[in-house]
Amino acid sequence: MKEGIHPNYKQTTIRCACGEIIETGSTKKDIKVEICSKCHPFFTGKQKLVDTSGRVDKFNRKFGINN
Ligand SMILES: [Zn+2]
Repeated sequence: MKEGIHPNYKQTTIRCACGEIIETGSTKKDIKVEICSKCHPFFTGKQKLVDTSGRVDKFNRKFGINN
């Protein structure tokens, strides 16, 4: 490994609006984001769960299943 290939590459802290702090390497310093992998519906799976429950509900109605 040669040194000096990434002269501006250093440890950076990404702070999310949800309070999550991610340490990473970047040429930018102290990045602030409003959404991250911890709070984004795509990553948390909340949206997926909502979709799944909706499908189950439709399935139950279609086949006349009442819990
Ligand atoms: Zn977040």
